[in-house]
Amino acid sequence: MPLSPALARYDNVLLDLDGCLWVGEEALDGAVGAVAALRDAGKGVAFLTNDVRHTPEDFVRKLWRLGFQAAVNEVVTCGAALQFVLAERTERGAAFVIGSQALVDHVADAGLRIVNNTEFATRADLVVVGAHEEFDFRELRIATQAVLRGAELIGVTRDRTFPMPDGPWPGSGAVLAAVEEATGRRAERTVGKPEPDMYATVRDRLGEGRYLAVGDRLDVDVVGARRAGIDSALVLTGVTTRIEADAADPRPTHVAESLGALVLG
Ligand SMILES: [Mg+2]
Repeated sequence: MPLSPALARYDNVLLDLDGCLWVGEEALDGAVGAVAALRDAGKGVAFLTNDVRHTPEDFVRKLWRLGFQAAVNEVVTCGAALQFVLAERTERGAAFVIGSQALVDHVADAGLRIVNNTEFATRADLVVVGAHEEFDFRELRIATQAVLRGAELIGVTRDRTFPMPDGPWPGSGAVLAAVEEATGRRAERTVGKPEPDMYATVRDRLGEGRYLAVGDRLDVDVVGARRAGIDSALVLTGVTTRIEADAADPRPTHVAESLGALVLG
């Protein structure tokens, strides 16, 4: 299938997952064919998600299960972006991590010593904060004490909630707010979309060229692309309506009913 003229001029296409490729456990109509067509046309492809609970390997398995081809290094989670940011540093040190095992592993893989469950936890040089289901008061206490002792504070995202089948669940932004409130400090940075770190991680992997970021959220996907200096395409298969898209500031470069419609015209 030939690509639509709008897509032909890009070298690399960054794809959001939820609301763009799939909703829940179902691939959206035309999405599988669209990703295959991008590959056939020789485009670089990356999958970007603010999910902090799962590993890139988990997403590769889900992508294949739903019919998409994907490789691990094409999946950029916030954890992968955080690993990229931390690995660039010369100073490594000790980290206390609130978050899923996936997030802990990314911080460890960046070369930091994980001090969770040690007597040195409150003396960490860095506190990383993400939402996870076992979040508890003890973690909040340790993070608070470490930050008040001078540890750097990094959040994975400022997402207030994320969608789940039974309704919204508190996101990493909610847990980060608890640490910020307790310490009176604001996190030095967050790495998920719409912050530039996700896009810098992708550029490091895909290289030069013209980039397009596709997603379903104005505040995350379109704002993130704008801040990273690349074009954006909003798809209407997720949380945003046509009326909201038309009124948006910044405006997406392209608006399409779906990824299939965007890529294949
Ligand atoms: Mg989305």
